[in-house]
Amino acid sequence: MQPVNIVGAGLAGSEAAWQVARAGVPVILHEMRPTVATFAHKTGDCAEMVCSNSFRSDDDVMNAVGQLHWEMRAAGGLIMAMADRHRLPAGGALAVDRDAFSAAVTETLRAEPLVRIVAGEITELPTDGNWIVATGPLTSDALAGAIRRVTGTEALAFFDAIAPIVHAETIDMSVAWEQSRYDKGESDAERRAYINCPMTRDEYEAFIDALLAADKTEFREGETAGYFDGCLPIEVMAERGRETLRHGPMKPVGLTNAHKPQEKAYAVVQLRRDNALGTLYNIVGFQTKMKYGAQTQVFRMIPGLQNASFARLGGIHRNSFLNSPTLLDDRMRMRQRPNLRFAGQVTGVEGYVESAAMGLLAGRMAAAQAKGAELAPPPFTTAMGALVNHITGGAEAKTFQPMNVNFGLFPPLDDARGGRRGRKDRYPAYTQRAKDDFSAWLAAQ
Ligand SMILES: Cc1cc2nc3c(=O)[nH]c(=O)nc-3n(C[C@H](O)[C@H](O)[C@H](O)COP(=O)(O)OP(=O)(O)OC[C@H]3O[C@@H](n4cnc5c(N)ncnc54)[C@H](O)[C@@H]3O)c2cc1C
Repeated sequence: MQPVNIVGAGLAGSEAAWQVARAGVPVILHEMRPTVATFAHKTGDCAEMVCSNSFRSDDDVMNAVGQLHWEMRAAGGLIMAMADRHRLPAGGALAVDRDAFSAAVTETLRAEPLVRIVAGEITELPTDGNWIVATGPLTSDALAGAIRRVTGTEALAFFDAIAPIVHAETIDMSVAWEQSRYDKGESDAERRAYINCPMTRDEYEAFIDALLAADKTEFREGETAGYFDGCLPIEVMAERGRETLRHGPMKPVGLTNAHKPQEKAYAVVQLRRDNALGTLYNIVGFQTKMKYGAQTQVFRMIPGLQNASFARLGGIHRNSFLNSPTLLDDRMRMRQRPNLRFAGQVTGVEGYVESAAMGLLAGRMAAAQAKGAELAPPPFTTAMGALVNHITGGAEAKTFQPMNVNFGLFPPLDDARGGRRGRKDRYPAYTQRAKDDFSAWLAAQ
């Protein structure tokens, strides 16, 4: 049987390879690392997580990304299976031990007889065969050039963000305390998954002043045109309004200061565990374009972090993605070259989970094609279907921007239009419908 060739062993390519092999079709998985590096990846492993170690909410009733987790698990996804195996306590979120996770994905793929991993960069778009291109936001320059030559379309720019990471032993626990928001979680470890740093009003105001005054790396002209709102640097949030951070990553709700239970914090900075050992914590939502020297000064103003030492400082980087609504059909094939499918972040989805989900789908579609069949995407009522529908047709091509899965992509329920039902009723109804429809889609294969 003709193999499926996959370019890129990231979150999407690894999942796609697994799905193709599970369908009994041979796979050749091409990965350029570690021979050709990217600025964000550190290893040659498959499915390396380059920034946060979180797959976000695991709530499959009230949250769209939790629903996507559910669908990927139901479809026998490798990424979810390995994430579950290497899960870290993180309240209601699915955080993983990144090194153990990507090592496990790599070992599983290497042990699969139908998968052959080939080292090397692909620099041209192949003209025949059955291919999946899953080269991610840091697609190599040579291949990006080849894509532009075929599509004639300039890839759009956007920014992705790295939050700073702190050595746990340098956090002052006589000021900070461990607690997940609203004490969420099944176990004691889950309920204490975050480290919280409280601020008084004066401390918050001084922090905002320092953020606004700090030295920043300048954006080039026109660079901010493709800004992704979910990834705004904290100083840009502060520029939008002095209260913006207090209503965003620094919101104080659902937390009680263990040292001063009677005192309500004006703002709270949260840190989330970044490795299994519990030696590293990342500052949640604190991506920034401040210069390194300024970051150290400003972050040490946070009570509890006055002596913090940083394993990695924050950053924001430019990435590229396709204008999928114009370039791809509903089977994720490039219209001009139907032998090529695209998957992952390069298609204009945003995030580890969404990218892996698009890999899962592209893998199943390519495997069906290899067997002489066609696989239609899941219905739009499912998280996976809503996402692929958005990028391949639902989104406005002129203003196309990277997209996270969210309930706004789901078709409304007949009786829930116009807000007649509140979120508490609407979200469980969306996710129940998604589960029913996704199960039916799987059963029909
Ligand atoms: C700096 C940064 C920070 C990010 N932070 C987060 C975050 O906190 N949370 C989150 O959910 N998402 C984050 N993202 C987005 C994240 O990259 C994606 O969500 C996810 O990794 C995308 O999966 P992917 O498989 O599409 O791409 P990747 O995981 O990047 O995989 C693509 C693979 O293709 C390989 N490759 C590229 N070109 C070629 C070629 N020509 N030939 C062969 N191989 C090639 C690459 O080496 C890589 O292994 C971040 C991205 C960047 C760049």
